[in-house]
Amino acid sequence: MASEMYFLIHSGIFRILPRPTRKRHPVRTSPIPSDLQPPAARATVREVGLRDGLQSIATVVPTAHKIEWINAAYAAGQREIEVGSFVPARLLPQLADTAEVLAHAQTLPGLVASVLVPNLRGAERALDLDADLMIVPLSASHAHSLANLRKTPDEVVAEVARIRALRDASGSRTLIEGGVGTAFGCTLQGEVAESEVLRLMVALLDAGADRVSLADTVGFADPASVARLFEKARALVGDRLACAHFHDTRGMGLANVYAAWQAGITRFDACLAGIGGCPHAPGASGNVTTEDLVFMLERMGVATGIDVTALLALRQRVAGWLSGETLHGTLWQAGLPQNAAPAALRLAATA
Ligand code: ZN
Repeated sequence: MASEMYFLIHSGIFRILPRPTRKRHPVRTSPIPSDLQPPAARATVREVGLRDGLQSIATVVPTAHKIEWINAAYAAGQREIEVGSFVPARLLPQLADTAEVLAHAQTLPGLVASVLVPNLRGAERALDLDADLMIVPLSASHAHSLANLRKTPDEVVAEVARIRALRDASGSRTLIEGGVGTAFGCTLQGEVAESEVLRLMVALLDAGADRVSLADTVGFADPASVARLFEKARALVGDRLACAHFHDTRGMGLANVYAAWQAGITRFDACLAGIGGCPHAPGASGNVTTEDLVFMLERMGVATGIDVTALLALRQRVAGWLSGETLHGTLWQAGLPQNAAPAALRLAATA
């Protein structure tokens, strides 16, 4: 069972690099005439708490609460939510109701509902149920891949080719995202070579993935290594690198998001209340915290379409369902600043 507790392990490499010179996302600070200003910056925060978060904690959240969570996140403005995972219920009882949760998410107009699928069988369910997007995880660490998926990374690439063939044969429009995990190293293997991460990322696209994402599964990344890898990755595949996924295990999650943003990434995974973590490291943080990330982006002048006040209220509700679990994040403790905030936040704070 432990060998199939997917993607809970992490590792990384540490290098100090010069500050990247390319800044593709200027923060709105200069008083230039409005007709000369670049289009307003926008970013998407994809909620993964219902999958990455809940799979890593012991509490089994009832389906009705998951639906309540999705409804409130949607009302707050979130339009991309990973609702669960199609793995055997005996392995992850926390996500056994994924089909039901997905069906509800599909009733919300404009919501992109995604699921994680570890193999062809999971993909069949995602296709049958017409999910908008399925994420197929691949671990760039050979050791981690064998331990968690019982496949080599290249065998996962081959599985993605089979999933693509199945998708095409079915006529489905479900998108396939290849998620390259342990992209910054791994606790089992140690260093994971950048060249290997980039090779596997391109291999996933060649095998038929519509897009790819890079994940620091175990919190080994730092902003310099993020800048370097994401710059290289974007130079190779451009916008087909569609998402960055950072865990906050060592407190560098938001800094890593900023580095990826500077490299041109505009979609980030996050968990409400930072839930998640690692069963081998009690108290370890999960993904970057949704409400903190939305706050940071909005403060930078980057529109997310999400009402952070509503997220804070939702966090409180979810915290009530997770008594005994370790939650993370900092914004909820200090609250929103009442002055010197961008207009959207000031309005939200006083609403
Ligand atoms: Zn993760």
